[in-house]
Amino acid sequence: MTKVGVVGYGTIGKRVADAVVAQRDMDVIGVAKTSPNFEAGTAVSKGFDLYAAVEERRELFDEAGIPVAGDLDDLVSAADAIVDATPSGIGAQNREVYEAHGTPAIYQGGEDADVADTSFNARANYDDAVGADHVRVVSCNTTGLSRLLAPLREEYGVDKARVTLVRRGGDPGQTGRGPIDDILPDPVSLPSHHGPDVKTIFPDIDIDTLGLKVPATLMHMHSVNVTLESDVDADEVRDLLAEESRLFLIPEAAGIDGSGKLKEFALDSGRSRGDVWENSIWSESIAVRGNDLYLFQAIHQESDVVPENVDAIRAITDSAEQAESIATTDETLGMGL
Ligand code: NAD
Repeated sequence: MTKVGVVGYGTIGKRVADAVVAQRDMDVIGVAKTSPNFEAGTAVSKGFDLYAAVEERRELFDEAGIPVAGDLDDLVSAADAIVDATPSGIGAQNREVYEAHGTPAIYQGGEDADVADTSFNARANYDDAVGADHVRVVSCNTTGLSRLLAPLREEYGVDKARVTLVRRGGDPGQTGRGPIDDILPDPVSLPSHHGPDVKTIFPDIDIDTLGLKVPATLMHMHSVNVTLESDVDADEVRDLLAEESRLFLIPEAAGIDGSGKLKEFALDSGRSRGDVWENSIWSESIAVRGNDLYLFQAIHQESDVVPENVDAIRAITDSAEQAESIATTDETLGMGL
């Protein structure tokens, strides 16, 4: 049983903690937080031991009447693996704590790639993380692109990918983010950081990405054009993508016209927090003109990296092979809408 510590219990951390609990071969031994907010209360009510991430702030938990089991060092020394889901840049600062205890650690996509020995996507490069000490699960958008590009690259070869990412302004809980009433090219000049980030997974892929930010919170949307190295037709591509467990092809008959109905579908399906772990690809958007493939996919930024973190734990602790890990994670979470 792999003992997992979760450092940073926010949007990503709390979802990863629940996903780890759902596994048969790993458990959460505690979560580290900086403030005694509502998520601290949730952690305690779920039965997680709470650790003070910053020693000087421990008294805030005492004042709030929230029991604390220890500090960050205690959690890191007791864990077989750490999932660091702190805000961008904090993971790099925490790395020395993990190193001091010799505890392997998994970081998130907000960190620079050089925080880790390798960037990670379970479908694309699981083996690169086997036995590594520091692994970075790539961002929500890069995860979504890697899952899509991996089978296309294997089956047809990718000559060039061009992707426009229409990004939510902030997560539903990020009340300070925007824009409220605008459409922002972000960044204005090519490339957005997503293309270079995809190259941390596929160094040889030629990809250009453009980003926009819009007044939405539910999901990101990708407008994808991939020039393939061989002739295909749209039905073949549809069949190929349908075989991938973390790609959900939205059937035309479902009447799902956007991210709002997708989230509604996930909630109706009983998904905790309305999470959509899979890339959601509109089946009828898949079109081919010559060697050019086009499609739209929605990415639930708050949850698509969650199964990847679970697989990264198995890779970093060398406790399962790629196919076995992915299948186990998919089955225990209930992947497949
Ligand atoms: P978040 O702000 O929702 O959660 C981070 C949590 O870490 C908060 O509870 C915060 O209080 C806590 N924290 C702050 N400093 C800490 C410290 N020193 N030690 C322990 N905890 C600390 O952030 P998030 O959205 O979960 O993002 C976490 C990471 O995941 C970032 O790298 C981000 O880029 C990445 N990520 C976020 C999303 C997303 O859409 N939210 C998607 C994919 C990846």
